[in-house]
Amino acid sequence: MTDSYAALYRRSIDDPDGFWTEQARRIDWEHPFDQVCDTSRPPFARWFVGGRTNLCHNAVDRHAATRPGDTALIWVSSEVGQERVYTFSELKDEVEVMAAMLAGQGVRAGDRVLIYLPMIPEAAFAMLACARLGAIHSVVFGGFASHALANRIDDAEPVLVVSADAGSRNGRVVPYKPLLDEAIRLAAHKPAKVLMIDRGLSAFERVADRDLDHAALRERLWGARVSCEWLPSDAISYTLYTSGTTGRPKGVQRDVGGYAVALATSMAQIYDGRAGETFFSTSDIGWVVGHSYIVYGPLIAGMATLMYEGTPVSPDAAVWWRLVEQYRVTVMFSAPTAVRVLKKQDPACLTRHDLSSLRALFLAGEPLDEPTARWIADAIGKPVIDNYWQTETGWPILTLARGVEPAQPKFGSPGVPMPGYRVQLLDERTGAVLEAPHQKGLLAIAYPLPPGCMQTVWRDDERFVRTYWSSVPGQQVYSTFDWALRDEDGYYFILGRSDDVINVAGHRLGTREIEECIAGHPAVAEVAVVGVADALKGQVAMAFAVLKDPARAATPQEALVLEGEILKRVDQQLGAVARPSRVRFVQLLPKTRSGKLLRRAIQAVCEQRDPGDLITLDDPAALQQIRELVSGAG
Ligand code: ATP
Ligand code: MG
Repeated sequence: MTDSYAALYRRSIDDPDGFWTEQARRIDWEHPFDQVCDTSRPPFARWFVGGRTNLCHNAVDRHAATRPGDTALIWVSSEVGQERVYTFSELKDEVEVMAAMLAGQGVRAGDRVLIYLPMIPEAAFAMLACARLGAIHSVVFGGFASHALANRIDDAEPVLVVSADAGSRNGRVVPYKPLLDEAIRLAAHKPAKVLMIDRGLSAFERVADRDLDHAALRERLWGARVSCEWLPSDAISYTLYTSGTTGRPKGVQRDVGGYAVALATSMAQIYDGRAGETFFSTSDIGWVVGHSYIVYGPLIAGMATLMYEGTPVSPDAAVWWRLVEQYRVTVMFSAPTAVRVLKKQDPACLTRHDLSSLRALFLAGEPLDEPTARWIADAIGKPVIDNYWQTETGWPILTLARGVEPAQPKFGSPGVPMPGYRVQLLDERTGAVLEAPHQKGLLAIAYPLPPGCMQTVWRDDERFVRTYWSSVPGQQVYSTFDWALRDEDGYYFILGRSDDVINVAGHRLGTREIEECIAGHPAVAEVAVVGVADALKGQVAMAFAVLKDPARAATPQEALVLEGEILKRVDQQLGAVARPSRVRFVQLLPKTRSGKLLRRAIQAVCEQRDPGDLITLDDPAALQQIRELVSGAG
């Protein structure tokens, strides 16, 4: 650690060519690039033009060649009670045999392969096998049912689907095959082949001439050698959907070389993850965190990656921390939503294990409120680093770089811009750049986006330009659709999504500000605040809270007392404008499958509107409870 964050960031902005040329040395190139970034067609950018490389080579082969016996992949399933460990050499064998299966079915560079799998090692093998062949993978989260899956099949038009008999959630077998069969029936596009992994969890029917047996092919092709296909840096590596929190998900398309370099840079400078160590991300391969920080990032850095199937609380809330101890995890990555789950459990579970190997816990995906951050930081006694980014960017926009002399953390702020991100705050009405501290505005990134970010919307350049680059006419700025402010030290604070901003009698409030205040009440585990149309004030805030102990509001009287306490707290901390009209207590909150609050759906229900596309909604019961509460109130 010689460099300071400030020097690192400045160099990335003042001399991007020099900076990224240096970073590009972190990966292997079969053929060197001759241009760092082609900006001739904004808002599109092509990174490392003329270079040829391969993600699988960088994640697997180069380590298998030099450190074959080092651990590459650790798989733990608390669902089925299994653990498996693969060295880099074993991982290479598995990836190659999977690549041989795909190639044997005619899968070639540029073809799409859809991966619909639970959290099993074969999911990583399949992704890496695609990368090896230059096939474009499209991973669909295993929790999605037929309709969502059919949409994605039609969008990706895969030649082949890799799937399994079943997943398992909370100890319950969730069959995948009937959902897949139904999705293929619904879809207009029919994949020629389905490669079926049979975990022996759930019997299924095979479709003749279409369904292939993974185990039989693996046995037949074991030992096959399939070399890496060297790809142009800007070839497509994969497509992946955003979480759909704000509406129809966007199909993010990513490149090969820029992504590999960005991940390698982030592993070194942000996560401070070193070859030979273990990285544990609790996400799912169905999300961008799973792509970047379960599969590609740690492996590119030569780390072992820990892949986990199960919940954070089974068999008990100590399970993740047992894994940290057992596998000497140095870097851990999770989400605020998971921490809020732990918050409802016995805190002793978090200290039962030896966490001395762990250097830091990174959290991303949703605003990390200060009470939650403090709680987990105190409980595990380690730095807790907020990480702000999007499916679109593929790696963090704002955080604290731990691989260099880091900036000091501030609770409530993810931190400062990462290398290459020209972060700006814009006045939403005028598009003017807000320079003074503490002004609230739209978080934007000036062109070009750094390497690793989305190339375009899959098959829809027009939507890419219209969606992301049209906030300020005449200017090339990418909108994140998040609302934020920057303090006098240059730290950013995410206030919520720009769509969710609440406008009470002309005062604009981020949902996060009110949520954070309410979450600070000792009885509250989790809360969602939305703005609801109001004839008098334009909008009023409404809050829905989950209590740590639901018995606190068992009777209407108790609920009223608690509501009064919470409202008083908001009054005192934020002022009466921010005071919600009501605080209602619920058992659970509506979330996307990736664990994000679906505020737009809550808002629609409160305003008695149609909540629209709910394909990403995790548990319909949560919304139903709110619907009943709201209609009961008249
Ligand atoms: P969609 O774009 O389809 O509506 P989504 O925005 O939830 O869904 P993701 O790419 O999974 O899809 O999530 C990125 C968003 O999550 C960010 O734009 C931001 O709103 C939120 N987010 C992520 N990390 C943080 C963080 N550390 N703090 C605050 N918000 C965060
Ligand atoms: Mg988004």
